[in-house]
Amino acid sequence: MPAEGRRPPADHLHPSGSSTCSCCLPQLQLATHRIGRELSRRGFIAGMGASLATLASLGLARPAGAQAAPPTPPILFRNFLLFDGTSTALRGGLGLLVEGNRIKLIATGEMAPPDGARVIDCGGRVMMPGLIDAHWHTIFAALPVPVLLSADIGYIYLAAAAQAERTLMRGFTTVRDLGGPSFALKQAIDDGLVPGPRIYPSGAAITTTGGHGDLRPLSDLPRSPGGPLSYMERTGSANIADSADEVRLRAREQLLQGASQIKLMGGGGVASPRTTLDMFTYSEPEFRAGVEVAADRNTYVAVHAYPSAQIQRAIAAGVQCIEHGHLMDEATARLMAEKDIWLSTQPFIRDDDFPPLTGQSRINLLQVIAGTNTAYALAKEHKIKTAFGTDLLFSSTVAERQGVMLTHLTRWYDNADILRMATSVNAGLLAMSGPRNPYPGKLGVIEEGAFADLLVIDSNSIDDIALLASPEKSLMIIMKDGRIYKDALPA
Ligand SMILES: [Zn+2]
Repeated sequence: MPAEGRRPPADHLHPSGSSTCSCCLPQLQLATHRIGRELSRRGFIAGMGASLATLASLGLARPAGAQAAPPTPPILFRNFLLFDGTSTALRGGLGLLVEGNRIKLIATGEMAPPDGARVIDCGGRVMMPGLIDAHWHTIFAALPVPVLLSADIGYIYLAAAAQAERTLMRGFTTVRDLGGPSFALKQAIDDGLVPGPRIYPSGAAITTTGGHGDLRPLSDLPRSPGGPLSYMERTGSANIADSADEVRLRAREQLLQGASQIKLMGGGGVASPRTTLDMFTYSEPEFRAGVEVAADRNTYVAVHAYPSAQIQRAIAAGVQCIEHGHLMDEATARLMAEKDIWLSTQPFIRDDDFPPLTGQSRINLLQVIAGTNTAYALAKEHKIKTAFGTDLLFSSTVAERQGVMLTHLTRWYDNADILRMATSVNAGLLAMSGPRNPYPGKLGVIEEGAFADLLVIDSNSIDDIALLASPEKSLMIIMKDGRIYKDALPA
């Protein structure tokens, strides 16, 4: 029997016509093991989804499963009060025509429906643009951490697809994904295979060893450079990068897969019990490496950071968007305003905005909640460009609070400002992806030529923003990309 790793002669004969023999068997086992290890290393199942995207992006073939949705007839909406995403006042007496996936025409008076058009009478209700969540995790929103770290990736994707439909049914027609392997889900949604929001993917959040998002079991340590990747990394949930060069590598890998922006972790976070909020992770040169890679692809880096020192370091490195920022001080707010930096923050005000936490995670959450009011007050006072996001994680129950989070904003903003923030203002942040924008066109507004993403709410004013906390009752029409996903208007 040959020693392991040594090949028997290629022309040796197998007994009784068999295709193998005892001398080949160790070789076969070794080969099988190697193939298995390679598939596993490459995140084979994740790769299947990505490979469809690759085929399409290489112009080789349209993926077989991706059948174009049948065309819908033109739809003419009548008898609604329009909140267009930018102006405060509601406008009545209009007709709105959707053709294909765009708003074709908005006109006053009685508009005649084109041939074959469906006419929808909105009964005097409010029409508004679809909501945008600027900080969402399509893969992580509804599954607990232990499941995410150990379950078959197929199950994780299927659960995320189910949650994507729930997200759309809450009226969120677009989300910006700030970490997680969302590329295949995005493609399936875009191809019309499963219902869900438009996704602006970051791919894997990039973090240091021991930084926020490094949820590896300690049994995975120590990692040696070039050594095998952890499950968390193979699935693209988070990537560990401990030098500027590693940041470049991982950032380029996300862009290769279609990331619309890059997410770097600047410090500790709530969901990482081994971190504290005060700690730094990336140095300024490491941040700069990510910023340069993103800039070379004409997009930007978003950095997870709570305290002022982390925010200032990220800005010094050229970062243009801060995620969270709950612990910033006045000087940092002034700096953000001066440099025109986006603040993508979330109104965490209560324990139940997160699944039950213990230990350091709970300490971190309480620090965030304690900072929320100051952060919003500073953002308003200094007129920082402020995006609305929810960052709800790890619980299907908590994920249902996406609309509730929006209503938390009434502490600082009036209703029109809240709706503007969750539509046209958030769309301004999405547009930062420039040529990496996966949906070039107007989002977050209702105007001619914009994508036909819109909601009809069971109300004749925007005075009661609390309606959006119960979308199952209050949303009568949900349209995304010109297609109606919910129609609960009385016949
Ligand atoms: Zn997040």
